[in-house]
Amino acid sequence: MPICAGGRQIQTRGLALTTDQTDRIARTLNQVPPEHLRSLQYLSFRDRDAPVLDEHRHPTGEMRPYAGGSTSSVARGWQALEPGERRFLIVIDIDSFSPVHRPINCQAGGLHYTLLHELGHLVDWSYAAFNWIQANDPAGFANIAARAHTGITRGAQERFADVYADMVFYSEAQRATTDAMRSVLASPAFTTLSPAWARRP
Ligand SMILES: [Zn+2]
Repeated sequence: MPICAGGRQIQTRGLALTTDQTDRIARTLNQVPPEHLRSLQYLSFRDRDAPVLDEHRHPTGEMRPYAGGSTSSVARGWQALEPGERRFLIVIDIDSFSPVHRPINCQAGGLHYTLLHELGHLVDWSYAAFNWIQANDPAGFANIAARAHTGITRGAQERFADVYADMVFYSEAQRATTDAMRSVLASPAFTTLSPAWARRP
């Protein structure tokens, strides 16, 4: 069943979600700038006990036994598509909704952090945002790359995705804007938006 967000219907595949899970995903998608969803072709929900297909491998090639989700290109030739074309899919493991596996995704009335992290990858690749920061804001790049990452995966791109997720997940009251967040906000992922994106209160 498609999920309405960013002014369009986003297709879903795989396992059916409960009403609560669907609401949480829709709430999460509606917290990011609608433009950031333009390159999302569909969301897929899977049971992590099912075989993991190669196409769901992280584009960096690293194997991940369990991360809660992953982001991939949808087809060969996606590099030739224009920014904003729907060239990415996000896979979410169904047990990322479990308070045991991912309590951060299960707060009452809250957002799905894992989905925000995956959207961080999608936004990074859609706008070449982290490359831009590396070229134009070396101090900001170092800030983000130095950030601790608690997931299974490593690498600077993971830090970018975490910064993006944190910006959307935590309200101003809970987390002051950091230097890393300021650098992401100054990248084309946000400076190209109109009107300027404001985080929820
Ligand atoms: Zn990641």
